[in-house]
Amino acid sequence: MTASLRRELLDACRELDDRGLNRGTSGNCSVRVDGGLLITPSGIPTRDLSADALVPMADDGTWVGDEAPSSEWRIHRDAYRHRPDLDAVVHTHSTHAVAVACLRRDIPPFHYMVATAGGDIIRCADYALFGTEELSRNALAALGDRRACLLANHGMLALGATMPAAIALAIEIEALCEQYLVACSAGEPVLLDDTQMAEALERFATYGRPTGPEEPHGR
Ligand SMILES: [Zn+2]
Repeated sequence: MTASLRRELLDACRELDDRGLNRGTSGNCSVRVDGGLLITPSGIPTRDLSADALVPMADDGTWVGDEAPSSEWRIHRDAYRHRPDLDAVVHTHSTHAVAVACLRRDIPPFHYMVATAGGDIIRCADYALFGTEELSRNALAALGDRRACLLANHGMLALGATMPAAIALAIEIEALCEQYLVACSAGEPVLLDDTQMAEALERFATYGRPTGPEEPHGR
């Protein structure tokens, strides 16, 4: 376990906190490592977190060290199994994502940036108790081949090839949720049709090369 990976994950936690996407002990994040993952511990506020407290976890769910992993470790572990091409996972309880998740709505194609998650909608996973295998199953079903989903009455999940990409996606989804709620409060947003979203997806698939579709440059 390299010190630089621990540092990267600690910096990610602080950035999510600084940006207001997570507060106190809510939310968690991880990066893939050889044979498993490095994940935030359970119950330590980010301001008290040190690089040493991050928890190396094997793919079978066992861990070493004094700290227990986040109660949501199954989602992280299962997400890496589900998406071998992605190496970072961010989970937030950010306000606007939670608000849409409490309405149990998918984020519809009200804006072309919805395509940054890799599809024409961003699904909301069925509700299950936090920390359970059922929640992990529901989250993977909602993710499908996409890089993000909402978790009903809970929060948001964003995946990336790198931690900066996962954080950028989480920030974008939080913004989309805020914009969607504002639009809904003023009326009924006009949704883009299948052809328009297919165009947006195609553009994202090619726009950022060589860094690829992970980097949503399409503003
Ligand atoms: Zn959570």
